Amino acid sequence: MMNARDDKAARRAEIEKICREHGLPLTAQRRIVLETLPKLNHPAVDEIWEQARESMPEVSRTTVYRTLEMFSKLRIIRKVCHPGAVARYEDKTNRHHHLLCLRCGKMTDLDDPSLDKLHLPGAGTGYQIEDYSIQFRGLCKKCMADKKHKQNL
Ligand SMILES: [Zn+2]
Ligand SMILES: [Zn+2]
Repeated sequence: MMNARDDKAARRAEIEKICREHGLPLTAQRRIVLETLPKLNHPAVDEIWEQARESMPEVSRTTVYRTLEMFSKLRIIRKVCHPGAVARYEDKTNRHHHLLCLRCGKMTDLDDPSLDKLHLPGAGTGYQIEDYSIQFRGLCKKCMADKKHKQNL
């Protein structure tokens, strides 16, 4: 079994390989975006930018945005878009699902093996289905407590 450090090194090597194949050097700015992403929970561009600036004050929002878009297209990271919410990014690219709070926009990962056994729509759709992700919408713990509190006032 691989330990966490080997895992990280393996992922790093994989990313470097993908970038090399596409002729994209892993610049310091791109690296900082990659290092920042896993530290945050499904962050939007601004959250990543804010955090990245702590270690690299000169990095621009445009660079952070372009880097995120580029890595998403290369499937190194994943862009999660939900209707009515800002685009968020995550470095977890395996199949998983999300819980979304309708009030504060908080997004939480949900791993549930029973949701991974859905029958995929086939040829009749005209699409070749590659993946799917289910989104459950509701209220998070904190917002539920806030709501109760307000009702009691
Ligand atoms: Zn909430
Ligand atoms: Zn996720």
